[in-house]
Amino acid sequence: MDESREPEPPAGSRRAVAGVGKLTPLQQAYSRYVTHQLGCGTCQDVDAGRCATAEGFRVAWKLLGDDACEQMRRGA
Ligand SMILES: [Zn+2]
Repeated sequence: MDESREPEPPAGSRRAVAGVGKLTPLQQAYSRYVTHQLGCGTCQDVDAGRCATAEGFRVAWKLLGDDACEQMRRGA
């Protein structure tokens, strides 16, 4: 999550990450989830709860988060 702690990659081994300097994939996934909820009548209805679209975004975000944790555990 904290990219500022990552050591600089050696020259010639640019990270193939889209949107470097912007949001990380994990942040993008979370942003999609939150942004959807802000504009979704179903998600804003307390009784209706989360709609299928929001649930899909939430699962995608969680999977990315799990993946990031796994990478940290491996010392990546
Ligand atoms: Zn929704």
